[in-house]
Amino acid sequence: MKRPFVIAGPCSAETLPQMLSTAAALVPAGVDLFRAGIWKPRTRPGCFEGVGEPGLDWLVEVRKQTGLGVCCEVATPSHVEKCLEKGIDALWIGARTTVNPFMVQELAEALRGSAVKVMVKNPVNHDLGLWAGAIERLAGCGVTDLVAIHRGVSGDKVLKYRNNPAWELAIRFRSRFPEIPILCDPSHMGGDSAYVRELSQRALDLGFDGLMIESHYRPGEALCDSSQQLTPPELISLLSSLKVRETTADDEQFLEELEQLRARIDDIDANILSLLSRRMGASAEIGHLKKKNNVSIIQMRRWEEVLSQMLSLGGDAGLDEEFVRCIFNLIHEESINVQNRILEDSESTGPAL
Ligand code: PEP
Ligand code: MN
Repeated sequence: MKRPFVIAGPCSAETLPQMLSTAAALVPAGVDLFRAGIWKPRTRPGCFEGVGEPGLDWLVEVRKQTGLGVCCEVATPSHVEKCLEKGIDALWIGARTTVNPFMVQELAEALRGSAVKVMVKNPVNHDLGLWAGAIERLAGCGVTDLVAIHRGVSGDKVLKYRNNPAWELAIRFRSRFPEIPILCDPSHMGGDSAYVRELSQRALDLGFDGLMIESHYRPGEALCDSSQQLTPPELISLLSSLKVRETTADDEQFLEELEQLRARIDDIDANILSLLSRRMGASAEIGHLKKKNNVSIIQMRRWEEVLSQMLSLGGDAGLDEEFVRCIFNLIHEESINVQNRILEDSESTGPAL
């Protein structure tokens, strides 16, 4: 797959002129596929739910007039059949469908024997298993041209973005399926055209293979997701300013420095493990002491002191506060587990209740 692979087009197909004007203006951007939702999965009823089947003919017309490959979302086997009939170049499964294994299985069966490109968005919830399961169901039906799209997690708003970017979910996907290209959808992730640039660059910095970006020739008039769509000229300017990172480099000096730094990291990681083991050893001794004196494991005041001291030391050491909090929460949980096992152990001494 070409890197970065770029998919662009409106959230939804609205009219043939809207599709043609947008697509023609996107050709100079060098996009690889033109997108437009035909059937729109709206969270609540009463909103614009897409133009339906006529939109497929508009996609075919876009391809005829511009030469761009075209794609749309499918959510039912009948959508798949209609798209295959019209020769749509690629399909994607939306976040509200990936979450449903029954529906994904039905889509996979409908795709059996087809060579079409199928792109799978991460599910609306923070669940790598459902995302992986969708990929496995499709692969199980012989779909080989698979692509993943990371669009963040809905209903989990953090900071300013519409979706929680949840980058770690995409990173875990990548390590589970290293051979499957992964794109980022900064439009639905950010929910505002102002955030598309920073999220796109972050995705490329993390090594994503490409982007799916919503673009409409008149965003203010869009029937759906109007605030997050870029005009084609904005998209062209964005693409020309993004820095594309290579997956690796073969420069000798780079490789040598990388190796030295990695050796240092391996050494530090081994030290962290040995310190954690000593830390848990001390927790176990405390467990025995508490058991002998019939004292409960959780001592809130002590834990609050530890955490606030670590947050302050972590700040002095230039570490991110949330990172330090997460690490110490994990250490505390494991320390409680260690002590629990000691208190539960009937062989150890301690007064009966
Ligand atoms: C879309 O891409 O049009 C869409 C509905 O996105 P998502 O499934 O990521 O919400
Ligand atoms: Mn949209």
